[in-house]
Amino acid sequence: MLGPKETGNFMAANGKTDIDHERLKKVVEGIAVEIRKATEWGKAADYIPELAKIDTKQFGIAVLTRDGQTIAGGDADTQFSIQSISKVFALAIALKAKGEKVWKRVGKEPSGDPYNSIIDLERHKGFPRNPFINPGALVVVDMLLEDRERDDLPDTVRDFIGDMIGDHAIGIDEDVVKSEHISGFTNKALANLAKSFGNLNHEVDDVMHVYVRQCAVALSCRQLAAAGRFLMLDREDIDDKVSKADAERARRINAVMLTCGQYDGSGDFAYRVGLPAKSGVGGGILAVVPNTATVAVWSPGLDDNGNSLLGTLALERLSQRMDWSIFGAVRRV
Ligand code: GLN
Repeated sequence: MLGPKETGNFMAANGKTDIDHERLKKVVEGIAVEIRKATEWGKAADYIPELAKIDTKQFGIAVLTRDGQTIAGGDADTQFSIQSISKVFALAIALKAKGEKVWKRVGKEPSGDPYNSIIDLERHKGFPRNPFINPGALVVVDMLLEDRERDDLPDTVRDFIGDMIGDHAIGIDEDVVKSEHISGFTNKALANLAKSFGNLNHEVDDVMHVYVRQCAVALSCRQLAAAGRFLMLDREDIDDKVSKADAERARRINAVMLTCGQYDGSGDFAYRVGLPAKSGVGGGILAVVPNTATVAVWSPGLDDNGNSLLGTLALERLSQRMDWSIFGAVRRV
């Protein structure tokens, strides 16, 4: 067992190390076997035609623990488009660049409506309820584009993820990009509506271009868990990639993930899983166990709110078996 010196504040208050890796491995592998036996896999997102083609009978899971070990099961190395999980990274970049000013243009309240609701945006006069619904993410992209030239539209989120995982060969699924450009009528309508209320400074096409590309970033569960590592780190537990200020902001981002990360299913998710998390219609979910681990799960079949059906079930079981709900006591396992 490693002593407190080698592990920073990795020792729990009761003097035991936070995580029993052997046990975690058994739990993760057990869940991967159980999920593969599922009879109900949910339905792939079909409003983006390219996503509708995916075989839904796939499941992957990767857990990155604070000491840098990854424990994986199922299709943990298969890449999928991260879709709305990209909104977490975009928010982290915007908060770092602009600080609290971000909240002048987007709220931090659960919406109670689907992620692409037009009526919700109209009701709030172009001020999106939070950065994780589509209009909120479009406004965040608009902020990221400030000070950029029209022809210099950056892959900001991809670069951020590349920095985090130390590998810049991150792919963008160009078929998904094309598919979303053709089918993205609702998103274009949302961007236009935000613009008509004065809450979008750039051209709708430019904002869409960046938004669609960040959604189409392709990662495996193993890569996604690594990309989200900054969200689990404690202020005392930082390194060359994550500063104290990043860790401080991560607490705020986790709060928004808990309350808004699964759209209209956020309450049910908090009840069942008890962890901050963000889903995407590609079937991925990134969950955070503060001070302990990040978890990425993927299964392309969705529930009615657009969240991975079996990914949610897997997280529910993991959180329960590891006693990882943030509403629980001091971490013991
Ligand atoms: N690219 C998707 C869209 O804009 C993202 C939505 C999601 O993952 N919930 O519709």
